[in-house]
Amino acid sequence: MKIRNRLNPSDPCFSFEFFPPRTDEGEANLLKALEDLAALQPGFVSVTEGAGGSTRTKTVELVLRIKQETGIEAMAHLTCGGHTPAELRAVLERLSAAKVDNILVLRGDPPKGQAAFEPAPGGFRYAAEMVRFIREEDFNFCLGGACYPEGHVETPSRDDDLRHLKAKVDAGLDFVVTQLFFDNAFYFDFVERARRAGINVPIVPGIMPITNYEQIQRFTRLCGATVPMRLALQLERVKDNPEAMAQLGVAHATVQCMELLSRGVPGIHFYTLNKSPATRMIVSALRARS
Ligand code: FAD
Repeated sequence: MKIRNRLNPSDPCFSFEFFPPRTDEGEANLLKALEDLAALQPGFVSVTEGAGGSTRTKTVELVLRIKQETGIEAMAHLTCGGHTPAELRAVLERLSAAKVDNILVLRGDPPKGQAAFEPAPGGFRYAAEMVRFIREEDFNFCLGGACYPEGHVETPSRDDDLRHLKAKVDAGLDFVVTQLFFDNAFYFDFVERARRAGINVPIVPGIMPITNYEQIQRFTRLCGATVPMRLALQLERVKDNPEAMAQLGVAHATVQCMELLSRGVPGIHFYTLNKSPATRMIVSALRARS
């Protein structure tokens, strides 16, 4: 099933993002989260690829396993940092043979300890180049890409970022998924600017329920998303109370999702961090109201 056919404002789909675990304990957590969240019948799930392609074999293995064992549509993230063109071709052949229909094409983050992104030898500097490469090969994937309502961390201006996004979409993307955001105004403003710039593919909002204070500070520092002042003050107040923190995170994300759905988004992508409770509570609350 091609994800572009599942993104529909009159029947929006929920999707869940996972990362390949590095330890046995991590694998047990992931399997539990997958089992819990599969019960919510997501439109699709996706599996990240570690910075610099560090989990590239595991990503493909996990995508194939989810598809075969659960029947849920699973999308592989593939990054420019992780693949030379020859390696990428081999991965694409494997995914295509296993009937994986969807790929999220990314430049990728620089590996830990490396200040700036560096392409793989002979590889792609920007995600748009990898999109072009995949489209020129003889494959029939549905391709997604990333976008940034608050602007990508490295971009000198949001207008530049939007121009590059337009070029990436024109290279052959079918949909885009946003970086996490905590203030819907950024998303709505971004969609308006994107439509004005001629970007017409579905723009799926990415939501991360806050469950841990330090973690969210680290993520927002890395990806450049801002936490609204009022939410930041509330988080500060409950930072030593994990239960209250989780309740606040779930409540905030639920209100965000309700507004997004009421204004016609084609789907909502949850950054689960391989944990199920917060996402399960949010999706259950949203389904109960619809
Ligand atoms: P690009 O679209 O290539 O853009 C990167 C930067 O280059 C931007 O600032 C853009 O404006 C600029 N740019 C683009 N084209 C040009 C050009 N021609 N000239 C000059 N500047 C240009 N990272 C991972 O490592 N693994 C993952 O699995 C992963 N999954 C993600 C999923 C989602 C939904 C999102 C939103 C992000 C994800 N990331 C992941 C993070 C992502 O890889 C980083 O944000 C990365 O820094 C940028 O990737 P991109 O694909 O958006 O890059």
